[in-house]
Amino acid sequence: MKNKKLMQLACEKWGNESQRRMGIEECAELIQALCKYERNQHLDAALNIVEEMVDVELMLEQLKLMFPEYESNADRIRGYKLQRLSELLGVEFVR
Ligand SMILES: [Mg+2]
Repeated sequence: MKNKKLMQLACEKWGNESQRRMGIEECAELIQALCKYERNQHLDAALNIVEEMVDVELMLEQLKLMFPEYESNADRIRGYKLQRLSELLGVEFVR
């Protein structure tokens, strides 16, 4: 089964609201992992960050399905943000 279908099944099984709340939880777990790493920069702490990054990525995939506006707007917004970042850094942004 492909990732996208798996994400759709998760949203259907537990419901969009529950998955949005899970997204909040996973973001919080990533925040906590990043905070812990600042206290103790060991391999285990780094691996915990990676695990939480993957959890957040999976929740983002589900959020993209819930918010179809993502598909038609994300590239434009990303381009704007990258352009702004490149200006802050004083470098040329190449698309
Ligand atoms: Mg997690």
